[in-house]
Amino acid sequence: MRLANQNGRAVLTDGSRAVDIENASNGEFSSDPMAAYAVWNELRSFAASVDWTLAGALEVPALGPCVPRPSAVFGIGLNYRDHAAEAGLDVPSSPMVFTKFPSCIAGPHAEVPLFGDRVDWEAELVVVIGKEADAVDEAEAFDHVAGCCVGQDISDRKAQFKDKPPQFSMGKSRRAYGPIGPWLTSLDEVGDPDDLAITCDVAGERMQQSRTSEMIFPVREIIAFLSSYCVLQPGDLIFTGTPSGVGSVRDPRRYLAVGEAIVTEIEGLGRLENRCIAG
Ligand code: ZN
Repeated sequence: MRLANQNGRAVLTDGSRAVDIENASNGEFSSDPMAAYAVWNELRSFAASVDWTLAGALEVPALGPCVPRPSAVFGIGLNYRDHAAEAGLDVPSSPMVFTKFPSCIAGPHAEVPLFGDRVDWEAELVVVIGKEADAVDEAEAFDHVAGCCVGQDISDRKAQFKDKPPQFSMGKSRRAYGPIGPWLTSLDEVGDPDDLAITCDVAGERMQQSRTSEMIFPVREIIAFLSSYCVLQPGDLIFTGTPSGVGSVRDPRRYLAVGEAIVTEIEGLGRLENRCIAG
């Protein structure tokens, strides 16, 4: 099942067509995409029997974030072996966690305002929680996942590293610094979330190319770790970290410029295209 946010309304999509969930269910399900995650299993059952003759064309430019108002957005830092190596940093012994404040969440084609000249890209697999998770172990972690989507953990490095200790959450929470989408793919259709191709192109140049199998802490371990401290709620997002090739550790350093397009893609999950504008 693929769930998208089209003009603020929840729709099922196959990537080219869209079925409005509220209309197709005669009002049984809300038009609010955020409401879908609280009734995830019921929605899955409905989607399995939906009448696709009711579908219209998917309006790609009208797509908003498939999870518009998560209660929490977790970020995992330094979670790829190739990225830890390029940054010259030791592999952490447990996941390094920060938050992206939820108001930074944006759609798959949102414009990204550049505040300053050190704004960077980070292609990431984003996991969406589908059932409350409170101290779950690794074996049951996937029972609490609705699915996955593509994400960009846009980072204002100047704000992030202005002082010591660094301010990860502030540097990563500016307006539209968390594009997600293009839709949520349910876990059964994701394949193995821990082995997907992930890429990021900036202004047509391939900057990141890796696989999620490079992750130091795979998705199950991240969920077990986070839920041992925090109760995860349906619709919560986990940005699972970025592979090598970010601008701040390239030689020479390379940052985003006004007018450039950031294209982020994950195998089977779709692609984001976000254009940089003046902040
Ligand atoms: Zn990140």
